[in-house]
Amino acid sequence: MKEKIDIKSLDLDELQRFVESMGEKKFRAKQIYEWMHQKLVTDFSEMTNLSKNIREKLNQSCELTALETVDVKISKLDGTRKYLFALSDGNVIESVLMKYKHGNSVCISSQVGCRMGCRFCASTLDGLERNLAPSEMLDQIYRIQQDIGERVSNVVVMGSGEPLDNFDNLLKFIELITHEDGLQISQRNITVSTCGIVPNMYQLADRKLQITLALSLHAPNDEVRKTLMPIANAFPLCDVMKACDYYFEKTGRRMTFEYSLVSGVNDNEEEAKALSALIGHRNCHINLIPVNPIKERDFVQSDKENIVNFKKLLEKNGINVTIRREMGRDIDGACGQLRKRYLDRKGDEQRAGM
Ligand code: SAH
Repeated sequence: MKEKIDIKSLDLDELQRFVESMGEKKFRAKQIYEWMHQKLVTDFSEMTNLSKNIREKLNQSCELTALETVDVKISKLDGTRKYLFALSDGNVIESVLMKYKHGNSVCISSQVGCRMGCRFCASTLDGLERNLAPSEMLDQIYRIQQDIGERVSNVVVMGSGEPLDNFDNLLKFIELITHEDGLQISQRNITVSTCGIVPNMYQLADRKLQITLALSLHAPNDEVRKTLMPIANAFPLCDVMKACDYYFEKTGRRMTFEYSLVSGVNDNEEEAKALSALIGHRNCHINLIPVNPIKERDFVQSDKENIVNFKKLLEKNGINVTIRREMGRDIDGACGQLRKRYLDRKGDEQRAGM
């Protein structure tokens, strides 16, 4: 059987060519595009300005990605929503909606699982299952926008997965989510977070997009970084920092550095000083994240006082720094934990023959 086309992952040019190859007029492509990416329909039957014949043809040759909501958890503290979505192959992924004064922000996953192996991260515990298609990245946002009935204005690619390990699909996703016939989210309202895959950081910089690049730094030197992030064995910090500078040079976009504070591992005064020296006079922003402990590892969050001191030390050195507000504390912990718990529960049920 011929594999169906993932129509929601096509850009408008590709869609036009496809529509013409079906023997239909080119302008139909724009109509279909708007149904998928603006009106966010999940079934060809809803595309009411197309003839029944076209809809039938589309149905036969294409798959219209529509994530199924398995679970939603809503925080009583701040309205944060955590979604567990099922993909058509039965895999599950998670996404988070955060409500800010400046608008609604959605944190999406870029892969099912992850192969980067960061020690404190729940997403990587079972390794990488597969990459997400552009349509599956988009649909996380589409389903959430429909669920809340409000516009999503910001996107952070900081959920499960390493976005630069799924490079082509990430670029396609950015093209589609910013497109004027789609949700038209501004590039400046998109942040992509990477653990630091150096060659791909250069490639991304060369695209000269206006998105924000966030680097997961987590340590001021290679020695400590290697204990937290296996990727540090492949790319030393000096090369990672050069790639960051190149990104700034090419795009003019200020880098964000993420630093998850783990008690006794990377949070003492010396490390704050070393971090200040590493960052130097770069025009950038550091986001301190109190580590979110996962039950599979024994990392402990730095205490409040330590976190505040760490911040003060950086500020003393003229560095622009914030402590990440912990959103949705009451509904779940870190990135990948909701999915992990779901999988563990399913595994238990299967073993028990339920
Ligand atoms: N692969 C990308 C996106 C991952 S998640 C990256 O590495 O940047 C986004 C951020 O959350 C990363 O900085 C990641 O290191 C951090 N993170 C993951 N699990 C965490 C946890 N349990 N506590 C604190 N930060 C965590």
